[in-house]
Amino acid sequence: MRKPIIAGNWKMNKTVSEANAFAEAVKNNVPSNDKVDAVIGSPALFLTDLVSASKGTDLKISAQNCYFENSGAFTGETSPAALADLGVDYVIIGHSERREYFGETDADVNKKAKAIIANNMTPILCCGESLETYEAGQTASWIEGQIKGGLADLTEDQVSNLVIAYEPIWAIGTGKSADANIADEICGVVRGTVAKLYNDTVASKVRIQYGGSVKPENIAEYMAKENVDGALVGGASLEADSFLALLEAV
Ligand code: 13P
Repeated sequence: MRKPIIAGNWKMNKTVSEANAFAEAVKNNVPSNDKVDAVIGSPALFLTDLVSASKGTDLKISAQNCYFENSGAFTGETSPAALADLGVDYVIIGHSERREYFGETDADVNKKAKAIIANNMTPILCCGESLETYEAGQTASWIEGQIKGGLADLTEDQVSNLVIAYEPIWAIGTGKSADANIADEICGVVRGTVAKLYNDTVASKVRIQYGGSVKPENIAEYMAKENVDGALVGGASLEADSFLALLEAV
């Protein structure tokens, strides 16, 4: 059985004091790790405080990006080795906002995935299609391409432990969430692609999240679906009450 994973993606929101207040409010109230993985994806600036606040609790911390080299002359970038040393467990990579505004390619995502795994952290690898691609009926082939590129050269074991997030761009921050059946179908395309590239055992282990306007009121519909193992949540993860309500609904 795949353990559900609910991850908040704060994007570029909050201040240090707001992040700390959130951690105080939720850290002892998240459900047990045996039941669900509860993760907050925070801006790099708050990671030190959040890791320290969550130590010994069931709340896990994710970065929203990192570089694929561990050190060197890469001004402004974040080292995966430093994140791992800090105690960060997950790193979100390939989010559509990073692809669109910062030019992140499948090849970059692949290099980052390898660096994150090499540092014993777990990538949350995002994929998703634009409205144009969706309306042209080309979602499946688009997603297959992103998964193939993102996973290149990873081993069976590495992919088995990965988290992949399917986030249709047209559903992000729009309030227009994808129908749960569509989310299930495309998460199934992701799983099928993993089965094709590897085998059914690997595909049965990889955890796949849906993301895009998930909130406490609709998360149960997604979680009830065969291929959906969790959610990557933007807006509804920003308030402590709402984040806890998402976890309670699992
Ligand atoms: P919203 O939940 O705000 O639609 O954002 C989704 C997302 O992009 C999470 O990574």
